[in-house]
Amino acid sequence: MENKKGSLLYEGKAKKVFAVENDDSLVWLEFKDSLTAYNAQKKAEMEEKGTINLKIATFIFEYLKSNAVESHWLKTFGERDMVCKKVEIIPLEVVVRNTLAGSTAKKFAIEEGTPLKAPLVEFYYKKDELNDPFISDDQILALNICKEQQTLDQLKKEALRVNVLLKDLFAKAKIDLIDFKLEFGRTPEGDIILSDEISPDSCRLWDVNSQEKMDKDRFRRDLGGVIEAYKEVLRRLLEV
Ligand code: UDP
Repeated sequence: MENKKGSLLYEGKAKKVFAVENDDSLVWLEFKDSLTAYNAQKKAEMEEKGTINLKIATFIFEYLKSNAVESHWLKTFGERDMVCKKVEIIPLEVVVRNTLAGSTAKKFAIEEGTPLKAPLVEFYYKKDELNDPFISDDQILALNICKEQQTLDQLKKEALRVNVLLKDLFAKAKIDLIDFKLEFGRTPEGDIILSDEISPDSCRLWDVNSQEKMDKDRFRRDLGGVIEAYKEVLRRLLEV
């Protein structure tokens, strides 16, 4: 049966979440043209951003699926919409870093672009009012955000598996995967699966040769050419 968009459940910074008529186990995501940074203190509308990110996120979810990584993604419709399994989002941003950049480069006063000895997985607590602070494993357990260390180990393992696959994919597109953020959710059956989106909004992507930024840092840092860079990421992925 054809899915029909239901009522608006929630409007986020980059997507609107709708119910799916007659199917409680699904949600309908609509990708917006909004770009936000620094916890939405900086905002802009950029034509085509939603459409390009939908295409990139779809490509990546399909690629991960073909490599046995389960996610909430089920299908993509037209220019802006995807239907996903409904999950309960775990309020953690799971960040994987291959190369030092952004907040962690700043924190340790080490130059951006410094390679890390091994990929690093970090958790941040998803709470806008607090600017998503770093949170340790022990803090996550003590605050009962997750009940068991085993769950955190599973999140780290899955994030590192996604990292290996994405690093390889982007390398074929002549792009260095510097770092990225993942979110996970729980299905009604209790399985933990990859959720949200993976796109240049949530990754740092540098051209292999020029080391030019091809991601949201172009917006954060007023470098210009945001949409052109996102389009180039999509073009190269489709050529892989
Ligand atoms: N990131 C994200 N959403 C956030 C915070 C970070 O998608 O709310 C991504 C960001 O684009 C980068 C990675 O996670 O690819 C690591 O970001 P970092 O912790 O360095 O924070 P930032 O410098 O972006 O504040």
